[in-house]
Amino acid sequence: MKIGIVGCAGRMGRMLVREILATDGCELAGGSEAPGSDMIGRDVAEIAGADAVGLTVGDDAKALFQASDVVIDFTVPVATVGHAALAASLGRALVVGTTGLAADHLSSLAKASEKAVIVQAANMSVGVNVLLGLTEQVAAMLGDDYDIEIVEMHHRHKVDAPSGTALALGDAAAAGRGVDLETVAQRGRDGHTGARATGDIGFATLRGGDIAGDHTVIFAGDGERIELTHKAGDRAVFARGAVRAALWTQGQVPGLYSMRDVLGLE
Ligand code: NAD
Repeated sequence: MKIGIVGCAGRMGRMLVREILATDGCELAGGSEAPGSDMIGRDVAEIAGADAVGLTVGDDAKALFQASDVVIDFTVPVATVGHAALAASLGRALVVGTTGLAADHLSSLAKASEKAVIVQAANMSVGVNVLLGLTEQVAAMLGDDYDIEIVEMHHRHKVDAPSGTALALGDAAAAGRGVDLETVAQRGRDGHTGARATGDIGFATLRGGDIAGDHTVIFAGDGERIELTHKAGDRAVFARGAVRAALWTQGQVPGLYSMRDVLGLE
């Protein structure tokens, strides 16, 4: 299966290139970068730390989609929306790992998925997708006298907060309780905030070092608490999940899918 990588010079892009080169059944179709990037013209594999393969980084996303069966996108929301439109117009599958997607970005993905197979997940690791299911189950089992707080920590370069995974965990907890996250989310506390409201789902964000991604969901009751934690030790887990999703797209009908669909966890 021919797989293209948009944003191939990014931290995840380089990881994805190495993962594709190492995975049976995958062929690297090429890579693209943002116009003006100083990586354009360099060998896609070489900048990822592998032996050169004779494919150079381009800035023509359309040409990359045409050369690929499926494209993997870990870039920025505005670029991802453009890539989804290309997937729809050219009939190619797309795997989206980009986070920080706002409601309008997500509705553009949903529109594109009428014509293309799109897998979108804020976290491509198997462990986090199991954690999403557990969080929903535990939230459904416990009443709202157990306060839910979600804590995440990532490396110093991360630009969006809370992480897409933390928000997905919040959605899972809210779904377990049968409420809409938007109505109960507390995304930042500072100063004289007053007491915690019953039913709130709180978020706390930490940044530093090279942490690939730590998430804990806390259910704090009177006299006891449950903590569900996932720690990604290596961002290769995300690349592996994304390549698995790319292979899974083959033969699927157009639609917007999650990693839980790919892993059969629904
Ligand atoms: P990064 O900044 O290292 O890489 C992003 C790359 O995208 C850059 O090289 C940038 O030049 C490129 N880019 C921007 N606009 C482009 C365009 N129009 N065309 C082609 N390339 C373009 O960031 P990163 O750490 O690799 O993370 C990228 C995204 O993936 C973030 O949103 C991050 O939160 C997310 N992420 C998701 C998962 C997951 O499992 N879903 C895991 C890790 C990171």
